[in-house]
Amino acid sequence: MLALFPSLLTVTLPLLIFGYMEHEAKGLGIIIRTEKARDTDRSETLFSPSLGLIRVMSYGARKSIKSVKAPLYTEGTFSLEKSIRSGRWSIRDIDVISIHSVLHEDLGKNMAAALFSDLVITSRSADPLLYRLYVTALDLLEDYDEETVAIAFIVHFLSQEGLSGDYLTCPVCQRPYRDDEILGFSLIEGVPVCSECDTMDSSLILPPNARRFVRRTLELELDDAVCLSVSSMQRHRIFRYFLRLLRLSFPGKLRSIESGIWDMHKEEVADEN
Ligand SMILES: [Zn+2]
Repeated sequence: MLALFPSLLTVTLPLLIFGYMEHEAKGLGIIIRTEKARDTDRSETLFSPSLGLIRVMSYGARKSIKSVKAPLYTEGTFSLEKSIRSGRWSIRDIDVISIHSVLHEDLGKNMAAALFSDLVITSRSADPLLYRLYVTALDLLEDYDEETVAIAFIVHFLSQEGLSGDYLTCPVCQRPYRDDEILGFSLIEGVPVCSECDTMDSSLILPPNARRFVRRTLELELDDAVCLSVSSMQRHRIFRYFLRLLRLSFPGKLRSIESGIWDMHKEEVADEN
């Protein structure tokens, strides 16, 4: 009845404080992005296989609205409430599974996680398979370096999104790759392709050994893919290849790459070695 009389609701609001928060939702999820909103408030993106990708508010100083703070990369079962007046979701409670603390202590791992978040948000998908891929990758960042985990995540992500082919046959002309074939890239299709379908004049190439490594990565579950043996130089080349590929596949959409922070960090590391 109240919904039919919004003015009445507004007038009697102080008396209805417990009825004020009407809609509730609960589900497994993880905070994958957090941005400053007004004052001390934050706007966060919750990735939940059952609830979808939801924008939730975390209210900082305002005691009038009770909400739980959820740091970036907190995974757990989230209890949400939706304000009738603002239409915004906020977090009422979290049964925490992991806070992924290592991601807040290591710049490289933090940027890898930011890239994974960018890709999930760009895909606009809350598919359970993608959720498992994302949280597994975050968990693996605790034990493995960011390039290893990023390659495995990106290869599986692109495959799940139908953006990669199988690294055995060209997704454009369907021809099986030769053993010694160097793959090119099709800007039209946004995928690695055979040398004949290459539209980039061999400026983004995947050599035979790298292709076999990527194919093997795709065949294995993420936990096993990160254990594949590869030289650190080869790993770094494949990692750089995928950063360039993502920049071409999702122009202007991946904040973590477009910010340039990643490139600067990598150059610093290279200088140190
Ligand atoms: Zn082809």
